[in-house]
Amino acid sequence: QASCPSQDKLTANLNGIKNKIVVLSGKGGVGKSTVATNLAVGLSLAGFNVGLLDVDVHGPSVPHLLKLTGVVPGFEDGVLQPVPWSDKLGVMSVGFLVESRNDPVIWRGPRKTGVIEQFMREVNWGERDFLVVDCPPGTGDEPLSVLQRLQPDAKVVVVTTPQQVAIADVRRSISFCRALGAPIVGLVENMSGYACPHCGKVEELFSADGGVDLCAEMGVPFLGRIPIDPMLMRDGDQGNPFVAQGRANPTAEALQAIVSKI
Ligand code: ADP
Repeated sequence: QASCPSQDKLTANLNGIKNKIVVLSGKGGVGKSTVATNLAVGLSLAGFNVGLLDVDVHGPSVPHLLKLTGVVPGFEDGVLQPVPWSDKLGVMSVGFLVESRNDPVIWRGPRKTGVIEQFMREVNWGERDFLVVDCPPGTGDEPLSVLQRLQPDAKVVVVTTPQQVAIADVRRSISFCRALGAPIVGLVENMSGYACPHCGKVEELFSADGGVDLCAEMGVPFLGRIPIDPMLMRDGDQGNPFVAQGRANPTAEALQAIVSKI
C-alpha cells in the first residue's frame, strides 16, 4: 500500500506516545467523557505524563470537566500546544475551537473528520506515557477515522451502562474494534447501581452481572463498574475531576481500580 504523506505526518507526530487509549461508547450520554477525563487525570496523578485529546465533535465536554472553558491553546510554529491542566497532563479539545459551550458543532462530516485528523497531526504532544482519546460515540465515520488513524497501536476502552449492556450497541462497538484490528483493553460499566451520598453503600438498580456476562460472552476483559454517584456528576459539573478530590468511597475505589488496569 502506498504511504500517505498526511498519515505519515500524523504517525510521526504521535511517535513519542507510548500508549494510546481510545475511550469509546455505543451511544452518547453513558459517561464516556467523564470516564476518559478521570482516567487521564488518574494516570497523571499516578505519575505518568499524559495527554487528553477530546475529539468528541458532537459534545466536546472535556474543557468544562477540567475547568478549562474559554482557554485558547497556544499556537507556535504551525502547531497547537496542549493546554496544561497540570505539569503531568496536557489537554486538547474540539471545544477550544468552539466559541461558546452552547454553540452546536454544525460542521459537515468531512470537516469533522478533518478536525479530528488535524488534532492528531498538528498538536505538539511530544513525549507522553499515555494519550487518552475521548472519541465521538457510536460506530460511524468519526470513531472510524480515529481508530484508523491511530492504528496499529491504539487500544480501546468501551464505556457502557447496564441498560445498554442488554442491547446491540455495545456488541456493535466491540465488533467494530475487532473489524479494525484494535485491541480492547476492556469494558467499563458506568452508572451501575446507585451510591448513597450519605453512607456510600451501592444499591443495585439493574441486574449486577450484565456487563460481566457480556464480557464473558464477547471475550473481552471487564474493567469494573462505576455506580451512579451524585458527587461524580457534581464534581464534573464544577470542573473538578472526581479522582483528584481525594474522596474515599466505592466510586473512588472503582475508578482507581480501572486506572490501575489501563
Ligand atoms: P458522554 O461522554 O457519554 O456523553 P458524559 O461523561 O458527558 O457522557 O456524562 C453524561 C452526564 O452523566 C454528565 O452530566 C455526567 O456528570 C453524568 N455522569 C456520568 N457518569 C456518572 C455517574 N457514574 N454517576 C453520576 N453521574 C454521572
